Amino acid sequence: MKLFRNLLDLIYPPRCPVCSAFLCHEESSHEEGSPICRACLTSFLRIESPLCPVCGRFFRAGNPEDHVCEDCLRRRPFFKEARAPYLYEGGLMTAIHEFKYGAKSFLAKPLGLLLSSFARTWLATHKSLLLMPVPLHPRRLRERGFNQSLLLAREVAKDLQADLDFLSLQRVKYTKPQTGLGSEERARNVRRAFQVLRRETVKKRSIVLVDDVATTGSTLNECARALKKAGCREVFCLVLARTSTF
Ligand SMILES: [Zn+2]
Ligand SMILES: [Zn+2]
Repeated sequence: MKLFRNLLDLIYPPRCPVCSAFLCHEESSHEEGSPICRACLTSFLRIESPLCPVCGRFFRAGNPEDHVCEDCLRRRPFFKEARAPYLYEGGLMTAIHEFKYGAKSFLAKPLGLLLSSFARTWLATHKSLLLMPVPLHPRRLRERGFNQSLLLAREVAKDLQADLDFLSLQRVKYTKPQTGLGSEERARNVRRAFQVLRRETVKKRSIVLVDDVATTGSTLNECARALKKAGCREVFCLVLARTSTF
């Protein structure tokens, strides 16, 4: 099998799925198990402390310790914790854009692996998690052809050997895109946009909501509101990247 693999590598040298550069041998056996090249990985900007332990927003200045941000102090979100390993900037922003709009759905695997390696540490102490992608409205699903969050969640669930449910949480309101809206408008736009169809699947479960990008967190919060109302124990939000304006 290994010989066959080596032969294949000779005929079709492995390329980075993001930038298409040929991978040298050490790179293709990258420590995180990611097929993404080193140059791309180093261009992905990691989010680090100090951050808010609830919503995961990071602080550029001031107190160097993690601390609950003003928004979370004023009004606790319905989710317990939200985290994103990366900033939605540079190389990763391009990769996510290609993944969603450039018909490069094969990026789900390498991007999903980045997300699962982060989740493995972050959620290490939590058992029997139920993964759920942030759903798209059926109309939006028809327009795009696939739900990018489901593709990511599927990879993460496979890698973490966790349960996956993509039918119980539904988007019942067709909303205009959140781009260009302020945080108040975003919250209003997605208000009551989600509904849990089968309560028994989420009852008393610890749920991990998966999404590709978060800006203000209002979509995640509305999903979490619906899930809590349906009787789940707690909600964690696992997002690949978040914008720096949040
Ligand atoms: Zn690359
Ligand atoms: Zn916060």
